[in-house]
Amino acid sequence: RLRKMSIPAVLAEAARIEPGKVAIVDGDRRITYEELWKQVQDFAGGLRQLGVVRGDRVAVCLPNWHEFLVAYFAIGLIGAIFIPLNTRYKQSEVAYILDNSGTGTVITAERVGEAALLDMFSALRHDLAALKKLIVARPVQELSPEEPDIVDFEKVVQSGRYAGSFPAPMQLEKDTFAILYTSGTTGMPKGAMLSHRNLVETTAVTAQLMECTPDDVFLVAVPLFHVFGMGPTALAAVICRGTQVLMESFKAATALELIERERITVHNGVPTMFVLELNHSDFARYNLSTMRTGIIAGAPCPVEVVRAIRSRMGCNICIAYGLTETSPALTITRFDDDDTDRAETVGRPMPGVEIKIVDNLYRDMGINRVGEIACRSYGVMQGYYKQPEETAQALTADGWFFTGDLGMLDERGFLRITGRRKEVVIRGGFNIYPAEVEEVLYHHPAVMEAVVIGLPDPVLGERSTACVRLKPGASVTVEELRRYCRERLADFKVPDHVEFFEEFPTTASGKIRKVAIKEMLSK
Ligand code: ATP
Repeated sequence: RLRKMSIPAVLAEAARIEPGKVAIVDGDRRITYEELWKQVQDFAGGLRQLGVVRGDRVAVCLPNWHEFLVAYFAIGLIGAIFIPLNTRYKQSEVAYILDNSGTGTVITAERVGEAALLDMFSALRHDLAALKKLIVARPVQELSPEEPDIVDFEKVVQSGRYAGSFPAPMQLEKDTFAILYTSGTTGMPKGAMLSHRNLVETTAVTAQLMECTPDDVFLVAVPLFHVFGMGPTALAAVICRGTQVLMESFKAATALELIERERITVHNGVPTMFVLELNHSDFARYNLSTMRTGIIAGAPCPVEVVRAIRSRMGCNICIAYGLTETSPALTITRFDDDDTDRAETVGRPMPGVEIKIVDNLYRDMGINRVGEIACRSYGVMQGYYKQPEETAQALTADGWFFTGDLGMLDERGFLRITGRRKEVVIRGGFNIYPAEVEEVLYHHPAVMEAVVIGLPDPVLGERSTACVRLKPGASVTVEELRRYCRERLADFKVPDHVEFFEEFPTTASGKIRKVAIKEMLSK
């Protein structure tokens, strides 16, 4: 039944059934479903009083604070369009998105970490004619009365009381709920338009496969502005009427502490998060016994790491695969899949999702051959906002979406990801799939994280470079790592170079930014 609801209706339902249950833990604050739903309605009323109407674009640039979620549901409640912004974006990136989307209102904070967000958005108001209002959550100083268009989040909540009835009728498949700009690890951001149904149905199916119940306590370690945070983490928690514990930003020690203190049962994350937790010097000190499951997704997860999460964290973790454009989950490993499938594949398509592997001419390649992954499902986006050409390239008239990822299906329907089409290293005419080489490197006892990239070479076209981060206190030579690869891989796949890194540049969702590493090494 939930699958046929709008995003705010899902929250209203949770508040009706479990009013007194804690919905959100945000630092010292515990907010019940009833309180959350009230704040959402008040904030929605306040937005309406500020002149925001159905179809208007409202951007949110906040860390994982409860105000983020209040805005998320409230924007949906008045039928406006939610535009989450990565808090790490620089002014030019934000300007591009606000301009492309024609955003009129931004909800933000004075600063997040190093970023002076309010100053940045104030400056942008002079350049962008459409941008009128700024709403500031948790301002440290009183906002200037001379600037009536810069208002305090709490005041908007208060002004919205008794502002009329909700919700406006929604067309769940037609109405765009959100425009999510893909994180830009591979070029200019594109705005994927997702409907209410895209997100609600995909999340409901994911939560069902993970057997989520109202007893679940979710750790929100991934950013809420990313689809992984807002869908299968935050919305999943509300769909199953569980509790979610927000982390302002990810730190391994804080995650471990919260798992113990809040008795976390579901922990979603990108592989790097789990790698950092498992390698934390105090790992053994924490009681993680409440952890039941979670999703690893967003980047290839080495088999070693999946196994370590199962054995050392005692957690029945699932691997899922998906994209922003697919809301996001397409495939997932199930609890009753056998151990090897649950470590080496990204599972099978979720019910109602079709996957096929196609060649360069979009012809179906069948099983056991590597090609581009195409999919069709209730989660596939409506298109890229104001980008008809990009949309036509990615999406066919009969609903197939081409992911740009390479993979292979086996005869039982399990999918293996071999990498992104753009990241394949073509060395002297031979294709090297980075994930395969990375998997071997991860297996080496001294290696904590590894990525393989291609750098230009006048003779071979590209040569491969392994970028490696060692475990604390471990040491290994370049030659030893190359020898290790040579024993396990065809010679053309052995990295030509090895570079050691103290730390990798990451996206705000925690993924390693291969493009940035490539730029660093090309200089
Ligand atoms: P951009 O859209 O700019 O490339 P991004 O790739 O980070 O940014 P997302 O939508 O966040 O955009 O991520 C989707 C991508 O993450 C997929 O296309 C795929 O390459 C990768 N991915 C997701 N899950 C997995 C997984 N389980 N294993 C391997 N790769 C994965």
